[in-house]
Amino acid sequence: MDPRDPITSTRGVGPVLERRLTAAGCRRVLDLLAHLPLRYEDRRTLGRLPGADHRATESAAPGPLTVVAQLESVRRVFGRRRFSRVEAVACDGAARVGVVWFNRPYLAQQLEEGVPYLLHGPLRRRGGDGPWQLSNPSVERISGGEPNGGPFDGGGVRPVYGRIGEVPPSRVARLAGDAIRGLRDTSGPDWIEEWLPCEERIRHGLPRLAQALTEVHSPSGEASIEDLNARRSPAHARLAYGEFLLQQLQLAAARRQRRRSGKPHRYRADRVAWAAASRLVPFRLTGAQERVLGEIADDLARNEPMLRLVQGDVGSGKTVLAALSCLMAARSGLQSALMAPTELLAEQHFTSLARLLGSHMTIALVTSSQCAASDDGSVSRPESTEERIAAGRIDLVVGTHALIQERTRFARLGLAVIDEQHRFGVVQRQSLARKGLRPDLLVMTATPIPRSLALTVYGDLDVSVLDELPPGRRPIETRVTTDGRMEETVEEVRRRLESGGRAYVVFPLIDGGEGVATGLPSLKEFGPRWARALAAPHGVVHGRLRRQERDETMSRFAAGSIQVLLATTVIEVGVDVPEATAMVILGAERFGLAQLHQLRGRIGRGTDPALGDPLCVAITGDSSAEAKRRLEAFAATTDGFRIAEEDMRQRGPGEILGTRQAGLPQFRFGDLARDWRWLVAARQDASGVLDRLAGPGNDALRRQLERRIPGLMSPEEGSPRP
Ligand code: ADP
Ligand code: MG
Repeated sequence: MDPRDPITSTRGVGPVLERRLTAAGCRRVLDLLAHLPLRYEDRRTLGRLPGADHRATESAAPGPLTVVAQLESVRRVFGRRRFSRVEAVACDGAARVGVVWFNRPYLAQQLEEGVPYLLHGPLRRRGGDGPWQLSNPSVERISGGEPNGGPFDGGGVRPVYGRIGEVPPSRVARLAGDAIRGLRDTSGPDWIEEWLPCEERIRHGLPRLAQALTEVHSPSGEASIEDLNARRSPAHARLAYGEFLLQQLQLAAARRQRRRSGKPHRYRADRVAWAAASRLVPFRLTGAQERVLGEIADDLARNEPMLRLVQGDVGSGKTVLAALSCLMAARSGLQSALMAPTELLAEQHFTSLARLLGSHMTIALVTSSQCAASDDGSVSRPESTEERIAAGRIDLVVGTHALIQERTRFARLGLAVIDEQHRFGVVQRQSLARKGLRPDLLVMTATPIPRSLALTVYGDLDVSVLDELPPGRRPIETRVTTDGRMEETVEEVRRRLESGGRAYVVFPLIDGGEGVATGLPSLKEFGPRWARALAAPHGVVHGRLRRQERDETMSRFAAGSIQVLLATTVIEVGVDVPEATAMVILGAERFGLAQLHQLRGRIGRGTDPALGDPLCVAITGDSSAEAKRRLEAFAATTDGFRIAEEDMRQRGPGEILGTRQAGLPQFRFGDLARDWRWLVAARQDASGVLDRLAGPGNDALRRQLERRIPGLMSPEEGSPRP
């Protein structure tokens, strides 16, 4: 028997079961084994049923009990409504104890009286101090000393599985056990080819692949039940590390290939030219901006395409860096594209770029409705913006990812800037590559990710960090209060409005009629109250307004004819109004840490001391521990990196990276939060392993890698194979 054999070679898989397993993507024996147990039950010690006067169990650790017992008086009991339960009495020769099962009516037919069963489950006193009862135990028939036909060893450590499609957990358990036994019996203990390099495996003290798969599906008892359940056993680590190493090798290989292939365009820019360009902007660059600009300049000068991520908190001045890079491209006769996640943000970029460097290069905005050009606006010219881009007469094109990628043809694209705000440009990168374009890529993100995590997950990106805000920014004070303190908040905000500031009031919902009653404050319901209380001209923006109306309100807010903006999170990204010094966030428990931080980034962007100190008030009606922890973390710091670390601690890195949307690889065995150290190890090992790949003894690993080139971690590719 071979792990790559069809699933039918496993004992007990007939046509019906085969159909069900295949429908769930389980075609080969190996696919079955890639379904790891969800948890493990410790049945190593057989216990005894407690007698009527039994007290010992009460004081002993309240773990589940494993006993061999016969069943009596099995019956189905009907309760209120349509609920029913199955009850029985278990007897181990010395004591009798009641047993109850919920939601398993079929047991009433299946269970036989007078034969031995292995029962495993929690032992409780009915109603707290009544007679002992086993509740919802797992139950297995023991016939001839063997439960389910397998050799009975007193129970051992039992894996508990999830369903595979329509195949129930107990069936999956039996199949996995049979598969492991079958493989071991026919091919010996090393039944699957080892592809992990010996050096790394030994250095990390990891078991061989066959041993690891055997151990997770039929634990030998060597690993502790806690480690198994936490998926931290050496066997689990082996699977996770192996998976991570393959991914990191792939990234490292792609990077080397990129290095080798070079890029088709050249920049005519030396240090002097960059320095001269940076004197064109109306302020002095911060030290961090200078440093990152130097890193970008070095990248562009290289023969290989740049792939650089710039992380910088909101307001750290990323746009200037993008603008200067695009200018250097223009001066080298190359076009650039700046891609934003929303049209609103694209328009803002267009406006601020035109203001910054519009007199030094030609900038065009591509939107779904119209095209505009910054230079002369000559409507009479018959040529459309798109034609001018295609002819190479536009230096910088600004738009959304979708618009630029779908509509725009460039004459000679040299540089693409992706302003992700929240996400990474993995998907965008791939779609550009598919169009045959290989520009230098600059990805900007305002959601800082712990640097090491970014490096590791995106092993092929270089990372720059803007860890300094432009001078003159006032620290934002953040308060968390409950619903009842409105007057105090109103007072504080009004003071800021009177000194010429502007305020945002952010609501989690537009109106209360969205689905079920949420108890959250909605804009429709509470907006008018806040408008009255703040007693200043106000406007309303939310996602259901027409864009034109929204934009008009936004510009009036920016100009100052509106001082209060009642809004939903549409203002979350990019909106830049320097006079905004106050923000009230209602239903704050509803927002994630990163989102709260992003919202708060809308205020305190100006440097005029007359405006006073910026204030953010998060109002919450919920005091759940989790919400409280989140809001406390939010109030404690305005440092985006610390927020990101905290967010990662609370939600795990998968959430932070927005896994699915961002096109991140999905891992089958490894988990970014749990197996973080193994990912770091794999990242560190990858380059060395790649150097030795062509050498002897790595045939199996080479085959693994070659198979993975078409896609990332789809189950087919991710599965180990001989
Ligand atoms: P980000 O995109 O990183 O959130 P922006 O590039 O929009 O930040 O910059 C925020 C504001 O700070 C803008 O108004 C910009 O003109 C200004 N700014 C950027 N760099 C500096 C600097 N070195 N000195 C002063 N103001 C700056
Ligand atoms: Mg920005």
